[in-house]
This record gives sequence, C-alpha cells and structure tokens, in this order.
Amino acid sequence: MDELRYRVDLLSAMNQKLASEERMLRLVCNTSSNAFLYVNFKENEVQTLANWEFFFPNVEIKDVKDISKIYSQVEDKYVLPLRELLFLEKSGVSANSAVIKLRDGKTWVECEASIIYDELKNPTDKIIRFKNISKFQNQNDELTYMAYYDILTGLYNRNYFVRLLADFVRKAEEEKRIVSVMFVDIDDFRKINDGLGLIVGDEVVQQFGQFLGGFKSDNIIVSHFNADIYCIAIYDPCGSRSVEYIFKAIQERISSPFVLSTGQEILLSVSAGVAEYPESAKTTLDLINCAEIVMFKAKGTGKNAIQYFDAPILFDFIQNVTIENKLKEAVFNQNFMMNFQPQYYAGSKKLRGVEALVRWRDTDGKMISPAVFIPIAEKNGTIIPLGEWVIEESVRTFANWKKNYNTDMVLSMNISAIQCKKNDFVDNIINLIYKYDIRPEEIELEITESILIDNFRDVVEKLRVLREHGIRISLDDFGTGYSSLSYLKGLPIDTLKIDKSFIDTMLTDENAKIIIESIIHMVKKLGFETVAEGVECEEQFDYLASIGCDCIQGFLMGKPMTGTDIEDLLNHLI
Ligand code: C2E
Ligand code: CA
Ligand code: CA
Repeated sequence: MDELRYRVDLLSAMNQKLASEERMLRLVCNTSSNAFLYVNFKENEVQTLANWEFFFPNVEIKDVKDISKIYSQVEDKYVLPLRELLFLEKSGVSANSAVIKLRDGKTWVECEASIIYDELKNPTDKIIRFKNISKFQNQNDELTYMAYYDILTGLYNRNYFVRLLADFVRKAEEEKRIVSVMFVDIDDFRKINDGLGLIVGDEVVQQFGQFLGGFKSDNIIVSHFNADIYCIAIYDPCGSRSVEYIFKAIQERISSPFVLSTGQEILLSVSAGVAEYPESAKTTLDLINCAEIVMFKAKGTGKNAIQYFDAPILFDFIQNVTIENKLKEAVFNQNFMMNFQPQYYAGSKKLRGVEALVRWRDTDGKMISPAVFIPIAEKNGTIIPLGEWVIEESVRTFANWKKNYNTDMVLSMNISAIQCKKNDFVDNIINLIYKYDIRPEEIELEITESILIDNFRDVVEKLRVLREHGIRISLDDFGTGYSSLSYLKGLPIDTLKIDKSFIDTMLTDENAKIIIESIIHMVKKLGFETVAEGVECEEQFDYLASIGCDCIQGFLMGKPMTGTDIEDLLNHLI
C-alpha cells in the first residue's frame, strides 16, 4: 500500500514537473516572434507552436501528412528548398536551414530544422523554426536597388548608366551606329535649393526626373547623376529617338510650371550638352565628359539652351584647363603686375583717381586678359591669394604716389564675390589702410551685383561696416546684370559705374539714351556719384557731361597704364 502511495506521489510530482516544463516551453515559444513545427516520430504526432498564425494563417497541421499544406503559402520557386528542409530526415542530416518568401510578396522567412536520431539512426524528434527576416532581406533588396537606381527619381544612377552606356558603345562599334549622350542640367538650381529649401529642391528634381523617365526605352537610357544633373544616352538616334526630339519635348514640358505637393508652382529652365559616339569621343567616360563640357558652354551662353560638342569648344576647354594650371603657378610665383586707368571729373577734367587693373604676362611673354583668367581664378579659389596681392600691391603703390606727389585722389580696386565672402575681408582692408597710412576716403572698392546675389545680407553688412570707416563702395558694370533702380536705394554705395555697353550704343540708340539719362537723373537724386566706363570719343564725353554724369573713364582719357606711367601723369600735374 505504501509502495503504491509512493508511486502515485512520484507520478504526480513528475506530472507537475512536466506541466511546469511545458508551460515554460510555451512561454519561451510565445515570447519569441517565431513559429515552430514539432514532430514526434514515435507517436506520429505534430504540433504547431507560438506565432504559427502569423506565418501560415489557415494552415492547420494535425498530422505528418498535413505538413505539405505549407507549400500553398510559399512562392513557387521556394517550394523545393522548403520541401527538403521540412523532410530533412530523408537525407539523414540533423540540421539545416533555408530562406523562403511567402506568397504575400513581402515576407521573407528563415527556416531552421533540427532533428534527433536514435542509436539506430531513426529520427525521434524534429523541430523547425520559422523566423521573420523581411526587415533584413528587404534592406538587402534596397542595397541591390541602390546599386543601380537613384532613390529620389527612380532613374538609373551614374554608375549603372556608365555600365549601360559602355554596352551601347560596344554595340555601336560592332554595328557601326551612333550613340548620343545628352547631359541635362536645371538652370539656377541653387537658387531653388537656397531660396525655397532642400525639400522643394528634391521635389523639383524628382518631378523633372520622372518626366525624363518617360523617354526610357530599349534604345534610350535615362539616368540621374546627382543634384540637378541628368544624363540620357540614345542608341542609333533618329526621329522621335533623337536629342532634338527629346530637347523639344523638354522645352514644351517646362513651358508650363511644375506643381509641387504643397501647391507651389515652379517654372524651370534647362540647359543641355550633347556629345556623340564616335564623332566627339570614343570612350564612355570621354563621351560623358564632352557632353558635360558643352552643357557648361550652353549655360555660359545664356542658359535654357542646347549645345553640341565641336572641336573649338574642346579647344577652349583645354585652353581654360591650361590657364587654370598655369594660374596656380603664377599666383605662387607672383607673375602679375598692376596697371592703373585714370578717371577724370567730367566738368573740370581734373584727375579723380585710378582704377587698379591686374595684368598677367605668361611665361612665354603673352599677355592673358583678366577677363579670361579672373573667372577661372574665382572658380578654383586662386582669386583669394591673387586678390590679396592685388590689394596690397595697389595700396602700396598708391601710398608711394601720395608720399612723392602729395596727390589727392581715389584708388579704386575690383573685389570678387569670393574675396568679399571671407570673414577677415573687412579687417584686412582696414589693417592695410593703417599699415600704409592712407585715408579711408581715398579707397574705393568696386563690387558687382553678382556679389549680392549669393549672400545679400552678409555682404551688405560688410559694406556697411567698411563705409562706416569711410571707405567708398562703387557698384561696377551697372546695366549688365539685375540692374533694378529700385533696389539701389537700399544699398550702402557711394558710386555707380555705368557699363561700357550703354556708352557704346548711347549715341545711336534712342532707348539707350533715354535709359542713361534717367539712370543719371535718378542716381543723382539718391546721392551717388556716377562714373561712365569705356568712353572712347569726344562726342560720348560731351554728351555725358551735358546730362550731368560726374566722372569719365575710358581710352579717350587714358588706357590702363603702368605705375610709372601714372607717375609721369602726376609729374605733369604738379
Ligand atoms: P572692369 O572692372 O569693368 O574694368 C574695366 C575694363 O574695361 C578693363 O579691362 C579696362 O581695360 C577696359 N576699358 C576701360 N576703358 C575702356 C575703353 O574705353 N574701351 C575699351 N574697349 N575698354 C576699356 P581689363 O583690364 O581687361 O579688365 C577686365 C575685367 O577684369 C575688369 O572689368 C574686371 O572685372 C576684371 N579685373 C581686372 N582687374 C581685376 C582685379 O584686380 N581684381 C578683380 N577681382 N577683377 C579684376
Ligand atoms: Ca571695375
Ligand atoms: Ca566695369
């Protein structure tokens, strides 16, 4: 009896332990996001555990025969690897895994099987774990996507474009065909980005990219390189599959605005550069480079245009690159000199001052015009050391004249936007004035409207500080840029220089005459001094004097000359 009670107690204790182990097992299963399939071979018993419903809703598995019902939930091409795993015991292996995709098209599942065999190598237990790995798998998909596509526009990215273009070029070589490469760039995109914000910029890039994507076909590759740059390649161009056709379609599209998600409407203009295999270049990268070079040419000639590659453009480009390289060296060796062009009062014909103009004599003795090298120096940053040299050399020369000739005149110096942007710009100028013992009113800085475009507030503040010190500010090339008279009144300037293009046409063109008269009239009212530039003949001088222009600068009165020539001039004045 005791023995029986003992056995009953023991069984109950064992049951309790088993029940608690089973509870623990269930808990472990349920707290993971996995699902499990358990098979007990001896009892021919099958159990599904944990998140089974998530993976295989409506697949009820009651015995081993039901296991194959899972296949109906899996994409066809994954059925085979899944079957091998679900019946792993057939291969006598004790563990293996596979990745499958469900029929919903988005769920990726990692399946891991583990089997226990007895001494006779018969399977006793099998467990298969199903784990949701969609997040990781989709990330991999994304990586693969990103290797070929640009996320923003859905177009091919630069790298993939280069590969596809290489295929076009290879094929064109075999089949003796042409490949056109068209580099497309949105004009003034920076203004959109800076003025309206990056989100607007991105939407513009996206919408325009989607429009370009409409040209895609077996023979046309459309890609987005970065920012506002797109590139299109056309195999065997003709008819509607041609650069002209596409550019015309672009023009038609941009004639009406792009409507953003905010309801904002944006009008775009676009420039394009075109290079052709085999005429312009023979390799993929050269084709892209040539198309890019001519695109810049299109921008330079007023934007909203298309430019085709030709030899003179390449020559220009090579010359610019050569100048760029030489320029760095010249700045390093200070191979520059200063010229000075006199300015006179129109009424008294007395000397008002000089404009300092930099000169560069190349190592082979050839003079290179500042109109050519200053824009290059601005682009590659050499304008900073060059500009500093120009200012110090001019001020130093000017200080010598003052000492030797006791002159009373103004030194005008041209300032680039990049120089003006530097934080120490104002301090450097003021320090120089002290160093060379010059009165601030004797210094005039010539700026152009382009300085104001990028960073209006910062520049205006700097100009204001300079003027507070007594330094004069002159607005150069008036009439060539934005040239709105209304915005002039807010600017901290003293002098306005009327551009040579007005002076050139003034006597023959009635409109130019009217404009110049009203400019001078208005500018006088605002309290600024006027300087007319590029005056080459007596008639121009007389007319300008008669309408009240204050000062005259031009070949008529004196060309830019060396410092020694200016000293001769000053000698005559004494
Ligand atoms: P800018 O400031 O408008 O300078 C006036 C230009 O017109 C000078 O050309 C001058 O030689 C020329 N010019 C003056 N009067 C006449 C005339 O009656 N007829 C003709 N045909 N031309 C006349 P330059 O010296 O070749 O300078 C060209 C441009 O290069 C300048 O235009 C200025 O923007 C830039 N530049 C020159 N020197 C410097 C400099 O030291 N620093 C900076 N940042 N730019 C400079
Ligand atoms: Ca000037
Ligand atoms: Ca000028």
